[in-house]
Amino acid sequence: MPSTFSYTFDTPAYKGTATINTGLFIGGEWVDPVEPATIDVINPVNGKVITAIAAGSSKDVDIAVAAAHKAFKTSWGLKCPGATRGRLLNKLADLMEENIDELTALEALDVGKVFTLARGTEIPASIKCIRYFAGWADKIQGKSIETTENKLAYTRHEPYGVVGQIIPWNVPMVMLSWKVGPALATGNTILLKPSEITPLSALKFADLVNQAGFPPGVFNIVNGYGHSVGQAISEHPAITKLSFTGSTFTGRKILKAAAETNLKVVTLELGGKSPTIIFDDADLEQAIKWASHGIFFNMGQACTAGSRIFVQEGIYDQFLAKFTAVAKALGDAIGDPFSPTTRHGPQVSQAQFDRIMSYIEVGKAEGGKVVIGGERHGEEGYFIKPTIFTNCTTDMKIVQEEIFGPVCAVMKFKTEEEAIELGNDTIYGLGCNIFTENTSRAIRVAHAMETGSAWVNHAHIPELSVPFGGYKQSGIGRELGEYALETYTQVKGVHINIGTRL
Ligand code: NAD
Repeated sequence: MPSTFSYTFDTPAYKGTATINTGLFIGGEWVDPVEPATIDVINPVNGKVITAIAAGSSKDVDIAVAAAHKAFKTSWGLKCPGATRGRLLNKLADLMEENIDELTALEALDVGKVFTLARGTEIPASIKCIRYFAGWADKIQGKSIETTENKLAYTRHEPYGVVGQIIPWNVPMVMLSWKVGPALATGNTILLKPSEITPLSALKFADLVNQAGFPPGVFNIVNGYGHSVGQAISEHPAITKLSFTGSTFTGRKILKAAAETNLKVVTLELGGKSPTIIFDDADLEQAIKWASHGIFFNMGQACTAGSRIFVQEGIYDQFLAKFTAVAKALGDAIGDPFSPTTRHGPQVSQAQFDRIMSYIEVGKAEGGKVVIGGERHGEEGYFIKPTIFTNCTTDMKIVQEEIFGPVCAVMKFKTEEEAIELGNDTIYGLGCNIFTENTSRAIRVAHAMETGSAWVNHAHIPELSVPFGGYKQSGIGRELGEYALETYTQVKGVHINIGTRL
């Protein structure tokens, strides 16, 4: 019998109790894994165990895929009108709204997110995302196509069936909603694997799916490690579409597993090393605030983090002085994610903490100069101060590799051409942030950047209606917007003979 876990929050930001099931969610029920196993969930504030959740294996993946397949054939997919799917998704969004504090608190506890910030941005955005795709559910349409007078031809946009979804730990509810919304709106059923590091909010979400009244098996969760559950999803012959968000390293493995098994359609949202480019005609105060948001949002744990900041030489010194002051103020507001004065929490795990600290050491050894930060905060937990490097060249590891922490390199450029060349000089192509008051230049540079998103005069704020994804090694395919519907449907051409006789 799967257990439940209750946590009482008695904090300045939130008082209340969150209760979740810690089992696997399969066929609308909470079940134990076939082979008993658990994973500890760690509090990043102090390194202590919060609870343990069930850890599945490939056997549980088989059972969940069978449940999802049955639901697809009997009560979802082409059996369920789009308007009904939309109504259920809207109901789910209502329930998320009713439980917004609990969802936020679980995520703040698990990931170390600052409660008040997550409550104002990410969790409401996740709810809006489910609602946005609810609106599409009865608008999935093909086309009729003119051919000859003897034929009626048209297309249907049909769901794949059971889709696998694997998500990372940095923004769990956001990633979940970006995937679940379009997959359910288009009539697919889901097997989701949250990150083993941050499973709590997804488990709460599963209860809300049941409360909303979705048919059993439409949405399933098998928690577990990437090398077992994630691998089993990637290889599963009955999963015909897989949507993955995570590192480029894992994305490569998933693509290989899919290629070597059933050639499932794979979309990948991967890592980044996004440039922030600030021209000397920019509104400097705004550029500084956005550049800070660009790199330090979520403690630097964002795929579109603006970790390479290129500043035009005329304003470089002024920018650096003011930007350093902003990073210092943020560093002074590090602490308990549930304190109303905190603006910067811990990194998610010991492994991430170690990885970031080792990049800081590498940066110093390569000749980089730490202007501020570069060290841990406090004695316990995984806190790292916002860190700025200067004296960097584009060949350095800290300028080329994704650190996924609050660490950026500030560098100088002279001309627009040089900024474009430097900005594009990585294997990644997720996003870029451009600051200038010259509209023609803004558009020219946005078009020249080899990135899936370009933000002008702000930094990495996605829009639900605008596609999001990577160029180069940052990914394959797009999420969000109408484009997401394409990635969750396959197109059938239907040909009807209305006159040709043999
Ligand atoms: P990760 O690749 O280590 O893990 C992501 C997920 O994949 C987890 O659920 C993990 O359990 C699973 N996994 C691990 N090995 C697997 C395997 N062999 N087969 C199948 N699944 C496996 O990434 P992470 O550390 O959780 O997240 C950080 C990374 O995610 C960063 O690189 C970041 O840029 C990226 N990310 C990208 C986007 C985007 O939209 N492009 C958004 C958020 C995060």
